[in-house]
Amino acid sequence: MGDRHKTGSLLFVPRLSEVIAALDALWPPASAEDWDAVGTVCGDPDQEVSRVLFAVDPVREIVDEAVNLGADLLVTHHPLYLRGTTTVAASTFKGRVVHGLIRNGIALHVAHTNADRADPGVSDALAGALDLRVVRPLVPDPGDPEGRRGLGRVCELDHPLTVREFAARAAERLPATAQGIRVAGDPEALVRTVAVSGGSGDSLFADVRAAGVDAFLTADLRHHPASEFMADRGPSPLALLDAAHWATEWPWCELAAAQLDEISDRHGWDLRVHVSKTVTDPWTTHSPSPGAPN
Ligand SMILES: [Zn+2]
Repeated sequence: MGDRHKTGSLLFVPRLSEVIAALDALWPPASAEDWDAVGTVCGDPDQEVSRVLFAVDPVREIVDEAVNLGADLLVTHHPLYLRGTTTVAASTFKGRVVHGLIRNGIALHVAHTNADRADPGVSDALAGALDLRVVRPLVPDPGDPEGRRGLGRVCELDHPLTVREFAARAAERLPATAQGIRVAGDPEALVRTVAVSGGSGDSLFADVRAAGVDAFLTADLRHHPASEFMADRGPSPLALLDAAHWATEWPWCELAAAQLDEISDRHGWDLRVHVSKTVTDPWTTHSPSPGAPN
């Protein structure tokens, strides 16, 4: 195989159907949640794919980036349409995305909760970005005898850090966003074990409590669930860390791109794989309150 790659003469350009089959093997669509909408949104199975772009959000800036890059396939974590639609008119935000993609011959494929549950999945990538050692899934998939697939991850730190130090590490290691990291709990408490979940994680609070960890890092935490969680945690010093949704899922793009690169090498595909660095977090600036604790 190595010689083929050196000369490049025996590499071949795969078809979309072949690339999608490889992606579906990494993130089986059947493992997605019932409410989810994963898989190919647009694209011709017979079209050739020589350039792939990975991103979190299927939004217009990302479509523009895919066009400028000459990509034939855009793979995003978030679905474009989660529910049915009766129009893809370009006068709607989502319809414009569809038009931009089809006009430029770019297929769109989504791996959402199937990528969350996979091994490795979205929360493994998040744990990796934070230099955490993954111990097990926070909510193991009952269908996985090896106990490696599932939602969220329970992790260990190599050396204990205070909550404040761990938040600073997360702020430094995750891609920069206006939000940064918000913390609930004692900033001086020690963190040895952490649960992480890319994206909105407040539905996992009961599992976090049961896991007996020192901190939970996720995104989109709201006032009432967070406030009740802190009040209900009892004597435990369990802290909450809230990062920007986009920032917690972006590390998966790099992991997924590396996985596809490895598959491409194995198959002898002439495929270039890119990761978008465009920040698509909707929040663009943050003004700390004067005199607020930091
Ligand atoms: Zn998400």
